[in-house]
Amino acid sequence: MALARLVAAPLEIQYLTSNELGPSDLLALSHVSTYWRAFVLSDKRWAEWFNLITSFSEETFEACLTRFNITDSFSKRKLVYLCLRDSCSVCGEYAQEIFIPHMKRVCEACLPDDKFTVLSLSAALAKYDLRERDLAGILTLAVRHHGTPEALARHLEFKKAEARSTYTAHSTDYRNAVDTRTALADKGNVAAAEAVVLARTGRKIPKAFPVYPPILLPARPVERTMVCFAPQPLMEVGGEVVRDGEDGEKGPGQSSSVSGSTRSSSEA
Ligand SMILES: [Zn+2]
Repeated sequence: MALARLVAAPLEIQYLTSNELGPSDLLALSHVSTYWRAFVLSDKRWAEWFNLITSFSEETFEACLTRFNITDSFSKRKLVYLCLRDSCSVCGEYAQEIFIPHMKRVCEACLPDDKFTVLSLSAALAKYDLRERDLAGILTLAVRHHGTPEALARHLEFKKAEARSTYTAHSTDYRNAVDTRTALADKGNVAAAEAVVLARTGRKIPKAFPVYPPILLPARPVERTMVCFAPQPLMEVGGEVVRDGEDGEKGPGQSSSVSGSTRSSSEA
């Protein structure tokens, strides 16, 4: 049926016709116009298809996203589509796993790539001199590209030197002000003691000693995690989505221990 005639058809007919279409055709249809996009988006079957998705370890995709507290971050349409395709977004080979932060299929061979590892926030803060407020609400962390490892090392050395000199100045200032205040208080000069301020900034003496910069803490092994979901194969058959048979062909490198879960490795 020509698309123009389909638009002109009564809504029920449009609906019945679209019911014959599977996810791939629906997605193609959604690219035709804003009208069809809205029409495709309103199809209730996306939620049904999404609910079919389970990992090899029997976890539902929904439960997995809930575990990471990112249920609302990804569209069910995209996830259904991703489960029907099984090629690696990097090399094009078979990929069993979906890398959750990027919502991309990534194969076993491409997964150890730096791009697909997640650092714990505390490790990233210390290692790359990031401030916690810079990272508020961030799901994954991409570290600024510095060209070469040497360039990054130079950058970090510079940041460390800077942090060290600032910390030394702040702590000396703090100690001097506290000593002066204590000396005045010991002499019974309470008003003068309370009036002592930091020499560098002219501000009141803070309650706590200046915080030691995380970047100067000794480097610890960095925990790196790959956060993946391995969906059981789904197929499109006659406009419907079905689970591939239990005895269906499964790709290489399958390992139930990683299905629908995170796994970690350590970097020395
Ligand atoms: Zn690959």
